[in-house]
Amino acid sequence: MESALTARDRVGVQDFVLLENHTSEAAFMENLRKRFKENLIYTYIGSVLVSVNPYKDLEIYTKQHMERYRGVNFYEVSPHIYAVSDNAYRSMRTERRDQCILISGESGAGKTEASKKILQYYAVTCPASDQVQTVKDRLLQSNPVLEAFGNAKTLRNDNSSRFGKYMDIQFDFRGAPVGGHILNYLLEKSRVVHQSHGERNFHIFYQLIEGGDEDLLRRLGLERNTQQYQYLVKGNCSKVSSINDRSEWKVVSKALTVIGFSEEEVEELLNIIASVLHLGNLQFGTEDSGYAYITTDTQIKYLARLVDVEGAALKEALTHKKIIAKGEELMSPLNLEQAASARDALAKAIYGRTFSWLVNKINHSLAFKDEQFPSSKNTSVIGLLDIYGFEVFQQNSFEQFCINYCNEKLQQLFIELTLKSEQDEYESEGITWEPVQYFNNKIICDLVEEKFKGIISILDEECLRPGDASDITFLEKLESTLGGHAHFVTHKLADGKTRKVMGREEFRLLHYAGEVNYNVNGKKDGRDRSSGEEDVTCQSENKILSQCFDKEELSDKKRPETTATQFKTSLAKLMEILMSKEPSYVRSHVCLSPALVLIRHQVKYLGLMENLRVRRAGFAYRRRYEVFLQRYKSLCPGTWPNWQGRLPDGVSTLVKYLGYKPEEYKLGRTKIFIRFPKTLFATEDALEV
Ligand code: ATP
Ligand code: MG
Repeated sequence: MESALTARDRVGVQDFVLLENHTSEAAFMENLRKRFKENLIYTYIGSVLVSVNPYKDLEIYTKQHMERYRGVNFYEVSPHIYAVSDNAYRSMRTERRDQCILISGESGAGKTEASKKILQYYAVTCPASDQVQTVKDRLLQSNPVLEAFGNAKTLRNDNSSRFGKYMDIQFDFRGAPVGGHILNYLLEKSRVVHQSHGERNFHIFYQLIEGGDEDLLRRLGLERNTQQYQYLVKGNCSKVSSINDRSEWKVVSKALTVIGFSEEEVEELLNIIASVLHLGNLQFGTEDSGYAYITTDTQIKYLARLVDVEGAALKEALTHKKIIAKGEELMSPLNLEQAASARDALAKAIYGRTFSWLVNKINHSLAFKDEQFPSSKNTSVIGLLDIYGFEVFQQNSFEQFCINYCNEKLQQLFIELTLKSEQDEYESEGITWEPVQYFNNKIICDLVEEKFKGIISILDEECLRPGDASDITFLEKLESTLGGHAHFVTHKLADGKTRKVMGREEFRLLHYAGEVNYNVNGKKDGRDRSSGEEDVTCQSENKILSQCFDKEELSDKKRPETTATQFKTSLAKLMEILMSKEPSYVRSHVCLSPALVLIRHQVKYLGLMENLRVRRAGFAYRRRYEVFLQRYKSLCPGTWPNWQGRLPDGVSTLVKYLGYKPEEYKLGRTKIFIRFPKTLFATEDALEV
């Protein structure tokens, strides 16, 4: 039999806290590499699961695997996403405490796959009945639908989620899933009208065109050729080898039925999708007066029919904007450029609101129904968070700003909760320890969100200020308010000189994960209000659209909230939800061979080394007395075959016999804490001989 030592040499340690040299990043990377080479994609840091994307199907997600992890203690089996799933589930059931599993990592790291694996685990292993099965099916089928409308091919990931998602799964007292609820965050709407080279629009457009039957396409006025649509050709990449749009179409159509969409609803939904494509093909010409007019009447006809509004009203809405002069509403004509941007704004608004409608509809279908489960008054919840990771591109805009702000908040939560739980454990076990210093990124969160002087407040002010507010005045205001802040930089230096490496329309934030330059061009898009083109959608007879665009809301003259503020509020709510639950963490990584460099960067930004340091500052290893005794009792005549007395005394007898020195361990109320991994390894090795 292979000795424990050589096995460890070959496959590394399954918990980073057991690394001899825990402060060395090189040792950390080496362990990750060793394990990855052996297809061991999961490793722990204490109870945090670290994963590396294998980019190939591994035979580790079978029903047998699920069974292996069911009801088994975290440490007794090799690290796995199922272990995390099962652990959260058991804690929820035994402690009656709501749980959440937070999955983080860069684009392409495997967050969405991980969340699907967790859901599958519950769908397969939790108790079932007919009614429960319906809920399980709907939970599972919500994924293909949301992915069709909210995911797209990017340069980093062929199936990249372009929205953040938090999903609650509700369980009844027997541990069966009886309902669910989804919260969605900031869909990347700009993708509807523009895609970078090598990227696509949202999957649903291609699925509909490739997979929809002839009749359907005819009704929608669409041709089976994605090249025909302006909104689909910007990235010059309509076909993707890893994606079969036609078969996905079937999957999505079926999923819509399972979730409970009526035929009429599906039709109205597709009318909207088709109308976005027609909108994209609308062309404008310029009249002698210099104002825009629409040159493509066919598109207007289709649009008028599909979204059920008067063609003339549509034309007017797309070539004019509403202004209020002397208390009167007037329609002022637009020039070519303004008309094109009104068209794009309308397309984004329609798509964005339809996406929210979709989430809402799914939520209705998933909602826990009292009458179906009359005996389940009290339910417990496991929440899954699959949200965009930290992003840095060549050009970073408002969307990256929001995404990275979100990551700052999550990192803060991670630090607070992991440190706090570590501290709590020492306290409840009566163990003394030295608290560790760590970088608290609260300072960056404040920089973004603080009242009156945070970036979002300043943005709000500039967006809502009538008159000469522009991207540049926004930047100037940032400079005057935040210049000198340790995490905020612009091209201006304190002595009045300029920093050459930075553009004049940029500001840089020093995030915990690295530096990012944000362009202020179009920052004011952060305002979620258009100049009136949306009004026309209020007249739509399409039931979905008329629910999406509420006339009263649109004509509300109150100070409207900007997108940035809405996002800030929804993040604050999310933090509250997460704080009220017991968290488990999955930190996923991309691996693009030979990309250890790439991973190293991710290790840094996920704060893994820091996490490890905190974990190791106290004790590397802890185990409940009974588990520890059970495993090692054979090593000591005094505890073999059974220890009859108090458990701590048994453990004390055992470790003294093994020669543990007093500084190497501490005995808490229910657990033994061992400071160094080598102590434990020696004990493990003794078992082998
Ligand atoms: P984004 O932030 O862009 O949404 P993500 O972290 O959600 O990225 P995923 O879509 O989950 O990334 O994963 C990207 C791809 O990597 C998947 O489509 C799949 O091909 C592969 N992948 C991820 N996890 C696994 C896994 N555990 N086993 C096999 N392949 C995987
Ligand atoms: Mg994803």
